[in-house]
Amino acid sequence: MRRISIFGATGSIGQSTIDLIRRDREAYRVVALTGGGNIARLAQDAKDLNAGIAVTAYEDRLPELRDALAGTGIEAAAGDQALIEVADREADWIMSAIVGAAGLAPGLHALRHGTTLALANKESLVTAGPMLMETAQAHGARILPVDSEHSAVFQALVGEKPAEVERVIITASGGPFRDWSLERLESATLEQACKHPSWDMGQRITIDSASMFNKALEIIETKEYFGFAPEQIEVLVHPGSYVHALVGFRDGALMAHLGAPDMRHAIGYALHWPERRELPVERLDLARVGQLRFEAPDEIRFPALRLAREVMATGGLAGAVFNAAKEAALDLFIARKIGFPDMARLVERVLTEMSAGVSLRGNGLSLETILEADKEARARVFARQAA
Ligand code: NDP
Ligand code: MG
Repeated sequence: MRRISIFGATGSIGQSTIDLIRRDREAYRVVALTGGGNIARLAQDAKDLNAGIAVTAYEDRLPELRDALAGTGIEAAAGDQALIEVADREADWIMSAIVGAAGLAPGLHALRHGTTLALANKESLVTAGPMLMETAQAHGARILPVDSEHSAVFQALVGEKPAEVERVIITASGGPFRDWSLERLESATLEQACKHPSWDMGQRITIDSASMFNKALEIIETKEYFGFAPEQIEVLVHPGSYVHALVGFRDGALMAHLGAPDMRHAIGYALHWPERRELPVERLDLARVGQLRFEAPDEIRFPALRLAREVMATGGLAGAVFNAAKEAALDLFIARKIGFPDMARLVERVLTEMSAGVSLRGNGLSLETILEADKEARARVFARQAA
């Protein structure tokens, strides 16, 4: 039996992962499930899957979790430290699907045990890419990409020589505001930003898709995970979300990865890698799809893409600052305190301020300096907004 843990089990990716596990229950022993505020879901899944331990991120919710698990023999724990400690429990495969930079420490910790980490949490690669990749290498751990574009690139690269790759193209649906004018974007509401045209995902990544911050994070994720140069990484808007990514080789060939927009494909690929197993995803009927549309992305209406290039050029702590400022600006948008385009404005401002002050470029990045930069960036976003 494979021992598996799911960090962020109550979320969209976590639930899709559990769906795959449930279909082949005998093959797995569930070591740990973690969640945030959705205690009912966490406890129910822990019981159904007979998990060893269930952990909530919020300490004040521990009594509730304990009550829900009373008499089951399943352990309950809470808080940031518990989330890190649970990564010490031996597992063969761990899904990293906490949303935001909060997913960094547990994932990093798990890699130190040489485990295989299926990484949905792109924020940890944006925040601390080199550290994550080096930790995996030092401990013989493997990181498998779960983001659909990165899983697609990973699959297109099987059997290929990295030196023969000329470029990588990741696609973006364009989100609900793909054809909106700059003026109209000023009035975009939370409800409108939460309606994704092709993917069903958690609220935060859905809004990030509307602002293209998701694609900005993914450009950086591509650089950090595969080691491609920034100028080799392109974005192509593809509203249907059937083509997830393309890899271009030096002879001009393009290998595209196509599939229905269902995260269970990328999750299942990471779960069964290096094999392919049957997955409960829709088989694409391309005759019915009929046409595949592509457009160039617009960095004027969606400045996040331009900011991602600046972040890659700066390196060092810029990724941590970019991600944290984005998370804080997103909090403000969700709280209806700022408008939709204000998110990119605030992030750009904080990036500029922080590059002007302390150098973001410094060597010797540690988890401590990264978390400090993260904290400062969030504080600056909130201060700017209040001013
Ligand atoms: P959700 O918001 O649906 O789920 C997030 C999970 O993290 C939940 O289990 C939530 O708990 C938990 N969580 C929230 N805040 C914290 C915290 N501070 N500490 C610990 N746990 C916390 O997100 P998604 O599943 O959509 O996304 C998860 C990750 O996967 C993100 O990094 C996202 O970018 C990435 N991803 C997602 C895709 C998708 O299709 N959804 C596609 C590609 C990547 P609770 O709900 O109980 O509060
Ligand atoms: Mg993606």
